[in-house]
Amino acid sequence: MRTALITGGSRGIGAAAVLAFAKAGYRVAFFYLKSEDAAQALAAKTGAIPICCDVSDGESARAGCQEALLQLRHIDVLINNAGIAQQMLFTDITDEQWQHMLQTNLSSAFYVTKAVLPQMISQKDGRIVNVSSIWGQAGASCEVHYSASKAGLIGMTKALSKEVAPSGITVNCICPGVIQTDMLSCYDAQTLAQLKEETPVGRLGTPEDIAGALVFLCGDSAGFITGQIIGINGGFGE
Ligand code: NDP
Repeated sequence: MRTALITGGSRGIGAAAVLAFAKAGYRVAFFYLKSEDAAQALAAKTGAIPICCDVSDGESARAGCQEALLQLRHIDVLINNAGIAQQMLFTDITDEQWQHMLQTNLSSAFYVTKAVLPQMISQKDGRIVNVSSIWGQAGASCEVHYSASKAGLIGMTKALSKEVAPSGITVNCICPGVIQTDMLSCYDAQTLAQLKEETPVGRLGTPEDIAGALVFLCGDSAGFITGQIIGINGGFGE
């Protein structure tokens, strides 16, 4: 049975991914940090294995990966999805806030991928997808630390895909546009309406829009796709 590890699976895009991979027949484990009730409910609904760990912390992320490998025995698919957002003026960002953003959104993918990769290399098969953002491509005003962390994932994807392709592993990156999850709670109604207007398909994205693309990128039909940065944004552009 194919297996998938999804970080940040308790809510939003990650939760939709847990549901989609489980529905596609994968045995799924997912990481979460604070949303204990949501994680347990999702586990009960899907049979997925919830693992509490902090991906921004190397030691905690490695312990989570060890547990996932123990439970799943092997990992075929890794989705680096966990992330946080924050809106503030660049000049107000403290060293701690900068560090926390980079640790959570970028170093997390380093910690988790590094822990999972040796087993993928030894099985000569694996699919890794990093969840970046349109802001990693375009840059967003008042989200400089967020944009920098997401741009980092794009660089990591391009470089790592070349390094591990000979081992039968694909590494891709998706860049969602504006997707209706808790992450949008920092925007007021007027801003959301404006973002919708700026999205050519005329609606905001759903977590399911993203989950479907993730399942596709990890499926048999996508074996020749690697090192790609794929916008899933309803036409919302740079
Ligand atoms: P949500 O805020 O809805 O969910 C974030 C998830 O990440 C939660 O499951 C949360 O777990 C988990 N998480 C956060 N920090 C940690 C941590 N330190 N350790 C472990 N888990 C953690 O966000 P979205 O679903 O909207 O976002 C998912 C990804 O998609 C993010 O990387 C985001 O940047 C990206 N994205 C989102 C867009 C959007 O418009 N929504 C647009 C572009 C990209 P818990 O609640 O248990 O702490």
